[in-house]
Amino acid sequence: MKKWSQILDPIIDEYGGKKIELNYETPFQLLMAVILSAQTTDKQVNKITPPFFEKIKEAEDIINMDIDDIMNDIKYVNFFRNKSRFIKETGIILSRDHGGIIPDDLKIMQTFPGVGIKTAKVVLAVLYDRPYIWVDTHIHRVMNRLGIVTTTSPDATDKEIEKIFDTETKRKLHHPLVLFGRYHCTAKKPKCENCKLQLQCSFYKKNFSKK
Ligand code: SF4
Repeated sequence: MKKWSQILDPIIDEYGGKKIELNYETPFQLLMAVILSAQTTDKQVNKITPPFFEKIKEAEDIINMDIDDIMNDIKYVNFFRNKSRFIKETGIILSRDHGGIIPDDLKIMQTFPGVGIKTAKVVLAVLYDRPYIWVDTHIHRVMNRLGIVTTTSPDATDKEIEKIFDTETKRKLHHPLVLFGRYHCTAKKPKCENCKLQLQCSFYKKNFSKK
């Protein structure tokens, strides 16, 4: 039996090297974009951030910005009131305690308002090439369909993945897996007929192999 890391090579072949789909210029903008993307598509975040990011490039830029102005700039993303508060408070803490630099530390990252494990992993994987796979609904679905895990929540999948994959695999897979789930192994109508993982996939075997 091949290791899962080898079995997933076709995903890396197809989606490896592609960049995160959120637009940003500075590390703080990346952090804000990821916070904004919770319960909102990357496309929608990219639509509203250009004028906002013109004003806010670094953490210290947000200190003097009025919370109502932040809300007005991001009002077309879900939960914009909470998110406005999160990015303002996170900017203040980053400026005050970390010299405006995003700390390369998963635990410290999760002490910032609005930054959970998924947001922290995305930011550190992208900025510092850390070997973190952030389990969103796409990765949770793909992992369960393939049969790599049998879990009922993204959090449980996250914990299992930590044990199953080695560091190098995690580093290579994090972004390709999201894209594979977003564009190929989609929630509705996954592209099973053109999938190179058919032979290993539990979902495929159950639904198509005898047809
Ligand atoms: S065969 Fe279908 S369900 Fe399995 S990984 Fe490929 S697209 Fe997803």
